[in-house]
Amino acid sequence: MTHPFTWWDARTAEEAAALLAKKGAMALSGGVDLLGELKEGIRSPDHIVNLRSVPGLDRIERTDRGWRIGATAILADIAAHAELRKALPGLAESADAVATPQIRNQGTLGGNLAQRPRCWYYRSADFECAKKGGKGCPAEEGENRYLAILGGGPCHIVHPSDCAPMLVALGARLFLRGPDGARDLPIADFYELPSKNILCEYTLKPGEFIEAVEVPVALPRSTYVKLREKDSFDFAAAACAVAGKIDGDHFTEVRVVLGGVAPIPWRAGASEANLMKSTLADAIEPASTAAVDGARALSQNEWKIPLAKAAVARALRSFLPR
Ligand SMILES: Cc1cc2nc3c(=O)[nH]c(=O)nc-3n(C[C@H](O)[C@H](O)[C@H](O)COP(=O)(O)OP(=O)(O)OC[C@H]3O[C@@H](n4cnc5c(N)ncnc54)[C@H](O)[C@@H]3O)c2cc1C
Repeated sequence: MTHPFTWWDARTAEEAAALLAKKGAMALSGGVDLLGELKEGIRSPDHIVNLRSVPGLDRIERTDRGWRIGATAILADIAAHAELRKALPGLAESADAVATPQIRNQGTLGGNLAQRPRCWYYRSADFECAKKGGKGCPAEEGENRYLAILGGGPCHIVHPSDCAPMLVALGARLFLRGPDGARDLPIADFYELPSKNILCEYTLKPGEFIEAVEVPVALPRSTYVKLREKDSFDFAAAACAVAGKIDGDHFTEVRVVLGGVAPIPWRAGASEANLMKSTLADAIEPASTAAVDGARALSQNEWKIPLAKAAVARALRSFLPR
């Protein structure tokens, strides 16, 4: 049976932060991810704070600094926003790549960025694992074919979000609200490897939640390529987000970020260096090879190394003149 909890409909961002500061409180937006965790019995909050009842938290607007997207904006609206898609094509593509139309109509951007991993051992109440506060990682000796090839250990989850790698590539900032006020940080700094924080992939102070995401428009060219086992809908087996500026035949600025292969969105700095030193056409092969520099396969997931390279190559080829 699900642990009983009190349901709170927050009316303002300040009220949401105050409610979330209660012991045993958790935020809920679309509920697509959290309700699964409650049903599995791997989370048992005493209070659930509904963020979708806060008016205006779902706004998508152009500001003088770029685009500000409220945390409860639903993924379908981000994907379908014509002006946003023109300015930030990769972001619209990443929102469109999430799951199914039904999930994109229910899931929010904040929930997508703060969703928890899909590792079978983490998701099943039948297994103990370090991410749930237990001991060890059963995936090391067990089923690990979808898990990390980069940045893993002592836990080997992959970050499941499609929007997070794209927002890292675009240089987005997260606006957090907490009982002590608001703060903002680069989205790349929100995520932490398991070697630093094994219990959660990100750090929020007590009562804090994501209020909005701000995306600059400094990198006009962007794309998101997602490779998955099942084409109808699936989490990424490997994905690549690229955002940059192109002058003639080469990038003058570029960020390359992998999804589905590491416990956090994985910035491929060596790929970026390759892209900055030669023409795009010449850099595609070395940049895609460099993206998996340092990759280490577990017993069943060697196949993800060439797949990640292919995702990078495919993303980069999309910038070649047609
Ligand atoms: C069948 C299925 C397929 C899926 N496929 C994909 C996929 O292909 N790609 C992908 O990216 N995702 C996928 N998802 C995962 C996910 O459910 C969705 O991406 C969705 O965006 C989650 O949003 P939500 O608003 O429903 O989150 P919720 O379930 O409401 O919340 C998710 C987590 O984030 C926390 N949270 C929610 N809002 C905030 C906030 N504003 N600030 C801080 N913390 C918050 C919650 O406490 C919870 O821990 C899939 C899920 C399912 C069930």
